[in-house]
Amino acid sequence: ASQADFLTIWVFRDISELWRIRSDGIWSFVLIFMAGSSVLSSIVLIVNFLRRSRLYQMEIAKANAELSKLNEELQIQARYDALTSCANRRHFFSELESELKRAGRSGSACCLAVLDIDHFKAVNDEYGHGLGDEVLKSFAQRVKGSLRSSDLLGRIGGEEFALLMPETLLSGALELCERVRTTIEQSSVSVAQHEVRFTVSIGVAHWRGEGDTVEAILARADMAMYDAKHEGRNRVCSERQDKAGR
Ligand code: GH3
Ligand code: MG
Ligand code: MG
Repeated sequence: ASQADFLTIWVFRDISELWRIRSDGIWSFVLIFMAGSSVLSSIVLIVNFLRRSRLYQMEIAKANAELSKLNEELQIQARYDALTSCANRRHFFSELESELKRAGRSGSACCLAVLDIDHFKAVNDEYGHGLGDEVLKSFAQRVKGSLRSSDLLGRIGGEEFALLMPETLLSGALELCERVRTTIEQSSVSVAQHEVRFTVSIGVAHWRGEGDTVEAILARADMAMYDAKHEGRNRVCSERQDKAGR
């Protein structure tokens, strides 16, 4: 066959679909790019949000912990004496009131003692108020060392303390107070080359049952403490019996 046998005919036609496909491709790319960017920025925003909210939560938890610690400290300051860490007068009497109510319900025994450091003014006068404070601290520490966990020591005045002994008969309370008295008599406080010895006078009263009040039991323990002072100090005295011999 010769070359003349082959005839190639090229026909050119404008295919508009091709242009549409191309422009659709561009639009698809633009749309996919935009969707991708918004997904990406959403992820970044969500991660950022989660990170920030975690940080806020941690800050809130920290602030809450600090607040409850502060609250605890405030409660301690409101209930305990700053110098001796004993229950303060208000807290002690509120505990005494509750204990007498509880004793009324259960019919159990309960005793109260008033403890007053002997000649404490002389300690202050001789060694100064600062050493007097050390004596008060050491006194409270030593008394607490002789107590059971259910007993409560309160500072109800300058050098005057009270001791609540729940579920304790008068005989047991007198024994415990005698132990406290001996411990104090045998101890001393040494501050700045001074060795200070001191003693305590203690009055003990027991709860007489229904109708006996905080004021009444305190007055009897107080009176017993003054008996101890009058009898020469450094001793434990029991309350005086009433007409019924109680
Ligand atoms: P008595 O044996 O009769 O109890 O004599 P006393 O000297 O202990 O009693 P008095 O009531 O005459 O004196 C109590 C002293 O306690 C007077 C006061 O200055 C002192 N005092 C009270 N509170 C504090 C305190 O917080 N710190 C110091 N250092 N002294 C105090
Ligand atoms: Mg005194
Ligand atoms: Mg006193």
